[in-house]
Amino acid sequence: MPIGICKLCLSDKELLKSHMMPAGLYGHRNREFEVFTLSARVRTKKQMKQVLLCRECEERFSENGESHVLGLIGSKRKQFSLNERMRLGFARDSDSFSKRFFAPDFGIDVDKFSYFAISVVWRAAVIQWLMEDGTYTQKVSLGDFQEDMRRYLIGETTLPSDMAVIVIVCSDATSRQGFTYPTGFVEANCINFRFLARGIVFRLLIGYGMTGFLKQAACTSTIKPIWYGNCESRTREMFRNLIV
Ligand SMILES: [Zn+2]
Repeated sequence: MPIGICKLCLSDKELLKSHMMPAGLYGHRNREFEVFTLSARVRTKKQMKQVLLCRECEERFSENGESHVLGLIGSKRKQFSLNERMRLGFARDSDSFSKRFFAPDFGIDVDKFSYFAISVVWRAAVIQWLMEDGTYTQKVSLGDFQEDMRRYLIGETTLPSDMAVIVIVCSDATSRQGFTYPTGFVEANCINFRFLARGIVFRLLIGYGMTGFLKQAACTSTIKPIWYGNCESRTREMFRNLIV
């Protein structure tokens, strides 16, 4: 195993090959899957991973977010049980696009959901990843926020007040079929990142100027909302935007 500086704890240690998108999202190991890179649509069995973290930090990611989120996604199961339960569930209220539910009603730990979303965006920012078509992911610049994220992920701070994670469970079958790498854009005076993970859309907002409305929509707000809606057109748009 190579020795080097772990990007998260900054210690000199044996390093493992880490995934940007967790292995559990890829489905069956020996089956080909479709990946949308920046330039192509690729069918492959290869999972995107690079030397990045020590074993302790890999375990930290798993315990603090990934295993809980992946358990609820259950990407190897045909049935998306979270979707089924929300479809029949009692919404607290709704807007024109989606219904709002109380996350703990569905066994969702909002702290783990937001930790997971931030860990994926941080992984996308900390190195450029070699994608399945031989090109690299786009450089993600987070400025000082990158170090704030690292300190939060290592457990030195609580969730920074200028970060919020909005979670939408998708009712449509298309969004369940795959995942996307985080893409960044500017909206509502914030840096936004969005990615799809087999039926769940995660949106991370970062910025000092975040409105109260957006903060209330985040899963970590006091009302712990989780949104449910048909994301098919947004998912298709995400896929289209990835192909230049
Ligand atoms: Zn480490």
